[in-house]
Amino acid sequence: MTLPTSSMISVEDARERILAVFSRLEIERKPLLDALGQVLAEDIVAPFDIPPLDNTAMDGYAVRAADTTGATEASPKELRVIADLAAGYVLDTPVGPGAAVRIMTGAPMPPGADAVVPFEETDETLRDVNEAATKSESVRVFKGAERGANIRFRAEDVKAQQRVIEAGRVIRASEVGVLASVGLTEIAVYRRPVVAILSTGDEITEPGQPLEPGRIYDANAHSVAAMVRKFGGIPKLLGIAKDTVEDLTRKIHEGLDADMLVTSAGVSRGDFDVVKDVLAREGAINFWTVRMRPGKPLAFGVFNGPGGRKVPHLGLPGNPVSSMVSFELFGRPAIFTMLGRSDWERPMLRAIAREDVVNPDTRRFYARCIVSAGADGRYYADLTGPQGSGILTSMSAANAFAVIPEDRAVARAGEEVEVMMIDWEHAP
Ligand code: AMP
Ligand code: MG
Repeated sequence: MTLPTSSMISVEDARERILAVFSRLEIERKPLLDALGQVLAEDIVAPFDIPPLDNTAMDGYAVRAADTTGATEASPKELRVIADLAAGYVLDTPVGPGAAVRIMTGAPMPPGADAVVPFEETDETLRDVNEAATKSESVRVFKGAERGANIRFRAEDVKAQQRVIEAGRVIRASEVGVLASVGLTEIAVYRRPVVAILSTGDEITEPGQPLEPGRIYDANAHSVAAMVRKFGGIPKLLGIAKDTVEDLTRKIHEGLDADMLVTSAGVSRGDFDVVKDVLAREGAINFWTVRMRPGKPLAFGVFNGPGGRKVPHLGLPGNPVSSMVSFELFGRPAIFTMLGRSDWERPMLRAIAREDVVNPDTRRFYARCIVSAGADGRYYADLTGPQGSGILTSMSAANAFAVIPEDRAVARAGEEVEVMMIDWEHAP
């Protein structure tokens, strides 16, 4: 997969080469909640029916439907109340003709009853709240009930031995709920990848430390770590390596127990050779120029870890926006692949540019923008200001990239552009 440094490759080509070295990780057992965002590695079969018994969907009276036929407000049917039944308790006494059981949502239907009349269709609601309802020995029903009315039937959700969730599904809140409802506390999922993150550069300073003249704080390690966590991985921060062979080599070795190593800076053409030298010496590495903006330079290779372990390495460009955009396009699919997920493609929409979006050259331009729905129901894209690859606030304000193709010089205001939604949760 070695390419001459001079050739430009497409985003898709780079991604394909990168994903070729990743596969999903081993299976582990995890408590339900910790597995959020991970992929189920086993089929889940329900051991019993859900619901386990016929039960009431309403607070009301369990009755024999035939006893209520023809009931109206003007001529109600009066029934004997023989018991009061809360959810969680089973009543064995049969409901005979003319009888009713006052019953709470979720309580199993008593034998003999075949419908539930909600409180609203009885004189229950007319009673004084202070009058103990349980003491009332009769109830007047104002409306006839059909057989089966307001009953949730046994197994109407899930039948015993039915597969409720199949292997390969991503665990979301609703899966956690379904798994808990069949009584599980733990499940088998594909392990989360550990991603080691290293910033490089003599000018980079750890936030919290005093800032010497000419230095800048490390943004990349932290933005990338946040993305790793957001995408489902476990970030391992290695700190900052100076542009020296010794420091860089030592720090890289600290990351070789991870599933992937991400470095930032030192990979562009004009860069001081130390980073490239060390990367090349420690493993097989390719330096690519990817036909994209921001984030043209990209390094990708495989390090030789301890015991012959191969550790994929993604070398991001140093500019903070380039670093984030590159990690979005290449790091996210890698993490998803290790998690066993193939759904890394972001949703693409068509939106109307509200201003001209100028593509400065023949690379694919990922312009940071805010996509919002207009009053006409269509989507609109507003750029988040200056688009320099060092202007990280342009990224912070964005919820999408307007993707201007390689062969399109400009998208004029009012024209449609394709937008890649990177954050549905923060739509303005
Ligand atoms: P380089 O890729 O080393 O040429 O770096 C490109 C630009 O990104 C330079 O202005 C660097 O100072 C800046 N840069 C590199 N690493 C970081 C980092 N970790 N955080 C913020 N800016 C960075
Ligand atoms: Mg540098």
